Amino acid sequence: MNGGRWTVIDSPLGLPQGFIGFCTTGLLGTQRVAQKPLNHRGKLGGETFSALGTRYSLMPVRRIAIIGAGPIGLEAALCAAQAGFDVRVFDRGSIAQNVRDWGHVRLFSPFEMNSSERGREAVRRGPHRAAMPTEGDYVTGREFVERYLFPLSRTPELAGRIHEQAEVFAISRSRHLKGDLIGDPARGHDPFQMLVRTAQGSDEAVQADVVLDCSGTYPHHNWLGAGGIPCVGELACTSRIDYGLPDIIKAERPRFTGKTTLVVGGGYSAASAIVELAAVAAANPATHILWVTRSDQSPPLSRFENDPLTERDRLAARANDLVIAGQQAIKHGHPESCPVKFLPGRVVCAIEYQPQLNKFLVVLDAVAAPLSGAAPRVAQTTEQLIVDNMIANVGYRPDRSLYEELQVHECYATQGPIRLAAALLGERTSADCLSQSSHGASALTNPEPGFFILGAKSYGRDSRFLMRVGLEQVRDVFALLRPETG
Ligand SMILES: Cc1cc2nc3c(=O)[nH]c(=O)nc-3n(C[C@H](O)[C@H](O)[C@H](O)COP(=O)(O)OP(=O)(O)OC[C@H]3O[C@@H](n4cnc5c(N)ncnc54)[C@H](O)[C@@H]3O)c2cc1C
Repeated sequence: MNGGRWTVIDSPLGLPQGFIGFCTTGLLGTQRVAQKPLNHRGKLGGETFSALGTRYSLMPVRRIAIIGAGPIGLEAALCAAQAGFDVRVFDRGSIAQNVRDWGHVRLFSPFEMNSSERGREAVRRGPHRAAMPTEGDYVTGREFVERYLFPLSRTPELAGRIHEQAEVFAISRSRHLKGDLIGDPARGHDPFQMLVRTAQGSDEAVQADVVLDCSGTYPHHNWLGAGGIPCVGELACTSRIDYGLPDIIKAERPRFTGKTTLVVGGGYSAASAIVELAAVAAANPATHILWVTRSDQSPPLSRFENDPLTERDRLAARANDLVIAGQQAIKHGHPESCPVKFLPGRVVCAIEYQPQLNKFLVVLDAVAAPLSGAAPRVAQTTEQLIVDNMIANVGYRPDRSLYEELQVHECYATQGPIRLAAALLGERTSADCLSQSSHGASALTNPEPGFFILGAKSYGRDSRFLMRVGLEQVRDVFALLRPETG
């Protein structure tokens, strides 16, 4: 049995119609009992059952499959379970694997923005309540997992519903091809079928009526090349380049101490790397940092007036100060006094790893990209650098191969679902992610009925996503969904 709702049909004991016992295990009321108006629609579900004169009927519930047990997938799972859906979550790693992978980084948004009242309440009722952060805490990614996301995954609502080390490879309709019933809501009558590789290494077909893709973007990095494709030599060096955020201060410190590291990128991830490398350099002056940005803005980080995200502003200010200090040091003829050398308005055009030296030869092109539609400036120079490490913080992109067989209408610029992408592109004047909020349920729908892309992945390549927005998206989508079939 896939699960269902035991509904009271009539009761001489006076049990009111509308008491519903939700059941996934076959035992009445093992999961949850909630008061809801009874929806007869002239026919109740197939199975009926009598006890002490009261008649019950089992109405099938809709099956929701959630891809990804990150902050947004878990929130969606909680919402689904509480609303009475038959929900299963699949994560290819452990709970919140992507957050774990950058776990040493401190979040710039306070805990209350990264969690919902619903989630905090569930954790308070669960077995791991003691360690939960307070609302104003700025925790690291690891603490966020250990003190909130993992406890959330172990609440009674979610027990038994999350499958770890279970990677979803692809999603389709059970019987219809991508080109069938184009844009027709009738596709919604055909359940989804997902191919899942289990922890044991076997493949399983999983069916669902609704699929929420909350699989994030983190491991799917962008490339260094000027136009977004790999630059010459990059593919051969991929495994040696840090595309994420290495733990520079602790676990991987020896790799960076006394070495020259090239950081590429102009966002907060690059700023984090610069600040951490500067801390290493403060203890070991033989440590050098080269910072390349595509934009020629100097100092590189934009700051927002009275930024309420104080941790974010602190990071931006510190990274900008290091750039300014480096520029001053060069200007006054003592470059050794600051470890950071800033190289704005450049792109990487070639990389070669030199095994005999265990170093990279990196070729930079000083042509700035035509960011505002102007013609590109004529190349003046190319520069060559020899570095020990390369950190490429050039952003992430969604893995769209998962839903290749579905009718998803995506934006040709950001690769996010089109309605949301259009709303976000319309707001491009603000680079501040804090100005974002959910754009409502209709922005999250697309031609494939019952398929939603939520969380960081819903923004495609747009980096302005905040967990707070994802939590709002979950609320919006569940306002559209009803547990009953039909
Ligand atoms: C360094 C860093 C710092 C950040 N700081 C902040 C911050 O302070 N505040 C903020 O609001 N946001 C921050 N963000 C953005 C942050 O990533 C997201 O807000 C958040 O993690 C997105 O949550 P998510 O659930 O959408 O996706 P993710 O956290 O990326 O979770 C996706 C999950 O899906 C799983 N998965 C992926 N593919 C599959 C598959 N095929 N099958 C099964 N499972 C799969 C992954 O293992 C992962 O567990 C930060 C991001 C980074 C990289």
